[in-house]
Amino acid sequence: MDKKEIVSLAKCIRKVFDTNDPFYISKVLGIKVEFREYSRAVKGYYRKVFNDVYIVINENYSQKEQKIICAHELGHALLHTDVAQHIIDEFYNGGDVSTLEHEANIFALALLLDEELDVEISSLSNYLIQNIFKI
Ligand SMILES: [Zn+2]
Repeated sequence: MDKKEIVSLAKCIRKVFDTNDPFYISKVLGIKVEFREYSRAVKGYYRKVFNDVYIVINENYSQKEQKIICAHELGHALLHTDVAQHIIDEFYNGGDVSTLEHEANIFALALLLDEELDVEISSLSNYLIQNIFKI
């Protein structure tokens, strides 16, 4: 899936569920969201246990930050099936180097960003998106 398709997917999901709330969307899609305590180095991750998909969010982040983290992890859960690579990226690479991280951020921004803002999300760099989220 290319970056433009990822933006379309996020916007489509937003239309279908008539909300941009990643917690609600995850629940409807059968993805369980859990909150756990970690150091700030960990924002969140997703994991697959047999057929169950979980999004785990660090409860030490604010509610607003948790919403962004959930949207980012939802992007991974929908776009990326290589869970092992994902865990390595989140924990060891600080979540900002790989294409997978960039794609999850594009998904999160497209899901959460106000439609009124006419921005070509698919062409934004990962660095820029991280600055928009400021976490
Ligand atoms: Zn990630």
